[in-house]
Amino acid sequence: MPLPVIAVVGRPNVGKSTLFNRLVGFAKAVVHDRPGVTRDRLYEETNLLDQRRVLLVDTGGIEPHSKEDLLSSMRRQTMVAVEEAAVILFVVDGKAGLVPADLEVADLLRRSDKPVVVVVNKVDGPEQEDLASEFWSLGLTNLVTVSAAHARNLYELTDAIIAALPPDDAPAAPTDDEDGPIRIAVVGRPNIGKSTLVNAMLGEERHVVDDAPGTTMDPIDSRLTVDGREYVLVDTAGVRKRARIEDVVERWVSLRSIRAIERCHVTLLMIDGTEGITDQDAKLAGLVVDRGRALVILVNKWDLAKGNADLDTRDVADQIAQKLPHVAFATHLFVSAKTGRGIHRILPAIDQAFAEFGKRLTTPVLNRFLVAAVNAHTPPQQYHHPVRIFYVAQTRVRPPTFSFFSNTPDGIAEPYRRYLSNRLREEFGFAGTPLRLDFVRRRRTGEERSDEGKVERDDEVDLPPDEELWEE
Ligand code: GDP
Ligand code: GDP
Repeated sequence: MPLPVIAVVGRPNVGKSTLFNRLVGFAKAVVHDRPGVTRDRLYEETNLLDQRRVLLVDTGGIEPHSKEDLLSSMRRQTMVAVEEAAVILFVVDGKAGLVPADLEVADLLRRSDKPVVVVVNKVDGPEQEDLASEFWSLGLTNLVTVSAAHARNLYELTDAIIAALPPDDAPAAPTDDEDGPIRIAVVGRPNIGKSTLVNAMLGEERHVVDDAPGTTMDPIDSRLTVDGREYVLVDTAGVRKRARIEDVVERWVSLRSIRAIERCHVTLLMIDGTEGITDQDAKLAGLVVDRGRALVILVNKWDLAKGNADLDTRDVADQIAQKLPHVAFATHLFVSAKTGRGIHRILPAIDQAFAEFGKRLTTPVLNRFLVAAVNAHTPPQQYHHPVRIFYVAQTRVRPPTFSFFSNTPDGIAEPYRRYLSNRLREEFGFAGTPLRLDFVRRRRTGEERSDEGKVERDDEVDLPPDEELWEE
């Protein structure tokens, strides 16, 4: 389910990035006095008051990076926010007061039907509350005063955001439909070769993306049929748009990547074999795991390695292992989107990752595995009590999800969870797909329901009969 996006818009220097970091709960981000300074973070997933998971997006990156005038850059920033966001936080500067650019933005926001919270920032103490009064003239009625720097009124703000969010009844993930085509997302940092690859995969001639104004923000998916098998390349408009419109800031591309990842089964993460792996690559890889999608890594521009003694496939493989340890399950292919080398290996790799992504193990097979795994290495005790894992079942595919039933799920620490995950991979493969392991409490045999009459804890279950566990 795609997370609702909360977009933070506003002029440079009003405190967007300070507020962003506050809301995410980090204080360590760089905040500079100079507008337009590159920031570390554009988007961050956060849980508002433990009630709603949202994706908070700082539009700071859309500030003028060249000589573009403030108004047009604000307009652009706001339009993107209106397209993508569920709720818009319009940050204004209480100390600086109302300026014409604020009125302009307010005008755009009023005409959209998106919920807007006006955040009057830099109201550092109660005696400064009247700084807010002039902002009522913006004609936006949901207004909160805060001090991002001093963490003032953040609770009220968070509350206002939650109230403004649409109800949480999102439809099921697109990965759940059983026999549609394999959906593929191509992601990677700007200039990595995404559009070159998409063109190569689709065939330059056969596919022309409609570039008419107003349609470029809509995701356009492209169909591809190879050997009778159907694929969909997700959001090819986003991929191509990046290559064509020069000033789209890479940060919004990243947001778009998240959307594409959420709509796909298999992600193709492109990295640059000649430049090495960056933090942004690692972050994108992390998103793929987080969203539970299958993954194939493409080391692109490998044509440039020819005749270059410094570029060696083994070095790149080492780098991947080192810098992308969280996606060690993924295969990587050396390709050149430009010359077409290695491209023919991409779809087979996708097929394979997709098959593993949907693989289902039977309960008897899994429980024999569990007995062997536990015998080889018993879970450590917790407070001198034995930690038992009674049985395991695969509860989902796409990605494969396993529920381990235990007397004390909390007692099974991260290293042991990793051990089980590694053993699963050693035994059953699952190359190309992340795995999910849940640890669930099971009542002891003969244990009474402790709270008869009350609501039963939904993570407590009864054991199924023995024959289901052990017999094929
Ligand atoms: P952005 O450009 O909108 O992202 O603004 P920043 O977050 O980089 O903040 C710009 C400046 O305003 C920095 O010097 C911050 O320290 C300052 N600032 C941010 N929030 C507050 C606040 O609540 N009160 C005061 N007095 N200054 C703030
Ligand atoms: P995008 O921003 O990720 O969509 O990247 P593009 O597809 O627009 O490619 C950016 C630049 O890299 C273009 O100049 C491409 O010609 C070049 N490029 C893409 N793939 C390759 C490749 O495999 N080898 C080389 N040498 N250049 C490539």
